[in-house]
Amino acid sequence: MEVPLLDLRRQYQAIKAEIDSAIAGCLEHTRFILGPEVETFERNIAAYCGTSFAVGVASGTDALLLSLRAFDVGPGDEVITSSFSFFASAGVITRLGAKPVFVDIDPDTFNLLPSEVERAITAKTKVIMPVHLYGQMVEMDEILELAKKHDMKVVEDAAQAIGAKYKGKKAGSIGDCGCFSFFPSKNLGAYGDGGMVVSNDEKFASRVRRLRVHGFGKRNFSSEVGYNSRLDTLQAAILNVKLKHLDSWTEARRERVHIYSEALKDCAQVKTPLERNHNYHIFHQYTLRVEDRQRLMQFLKEKKVGVATYYPLPLHLQECYQDLGYKPGDLPNSEQASEEVVSLPAFPELTEAEQDYVVEAIRQFYRK
Ligand SMILES: *Cc1c(COP(=O)(O)O)cnc(C)c1O
Repeated sequence: MEVPLLDLRRQYQAIKAEIDSAIAGCLEHTRFILGPEVETFERNIAAYCGTSFAVGVASGTDALLLSLRAFDVGPGDEVITSSFSFFASAGVITRLGAKPVFVDIDPDTFNLLPSEVERAITAKTKVIMPVHLYGQMVEMDEILELAKKHDMKVVEDAAQAIGAKYKGKKAGSIGDCGCFSFFPSKNLGAYGDGGMVVSNDEKFASRVRRLRVHGFGKRNFSSEVGYNSRLDTLQAAILNVKLKHLDSWTEARRERVHIYSEALKDCAQVKTPLERNHNYHIFHQYTLRVEDRQRLMQFLKEKKVGVATYYPLPLHLQECYQDLGYKPGDLPNSEQASEEVVSLPAFPELTEAEQDYVVEAIRQFYRK
């Protein structure tokens, strides 16, 4: 047997008729840039997240970049974020001339710790960017309290967390804005790049809307230098179809997660992911912590099981951030996680037989 980490073809085959007809509709009307499907999708996402506004942009990275710009982040500012995330969370801060300040994570949830955020606040801190890693939300009450106390904005990097909940509230709807990615492998994935900014702040949303079209208020009249960063009409059409299925896909992921965690419960060398009681985790990744990661991954690869490490090097130790002066040992929880994490196939279309095969392979490895 061969079990992929993710198989997007299965999903397409299940909804092929709907997708093909949505694409055909765009080819007929030819409004490829900011066509009607984009507006529809923006309305649908705002409704889904429970926010007043949603603005479609070219990627999750640009959603973060334009949000920070719209909060006037620039040279001299500091933005606090997690050292254990995808590179984009940090890259956007640097691209605006601001300084990323990395903080350590909770070893149980892999999410940045509010107590560490508090220690990192300076007079220059303008924004806190919590990252809801793997699909579980950060402890947002504490983050909001710090933001209020120190007059900072909260930009949620919800790229991996669409549909996740914290105390009943959806990811992206709690901070001053939320940012989503529709990268094909995300839980709500396009057939190319795409992203979205959601917010309840009308002025902020209007500014993001202008920034995605060169800063134009009126066409060809620019009030500030912006970007070319729109969500494609074709991608919006595809995403409108997929959004209708998202919640049932999430439930299917959670069923697979439950099966894994039960089956691996008595395996002492494996730590299965923890879902906090007040959270609804959407399991973008099902990620184990193991001590013997390299050998386990090698073994699973030989068994033709797709596995991956997200992320093998924390952001504070990236070569491009040497000038920030971090050293190994500075953020020990992030560093340890980067050495121990391994993600397993848990996509909604994974079959029972495939999952049994993965579980059996892991058990076999630890019996040896
Ligand atoms: C995927 C991702 C991004 C970037 O999204 P893109 O659409 O690939 O630009 C940002 N942050 C996190 C945590 C992500 O997982």
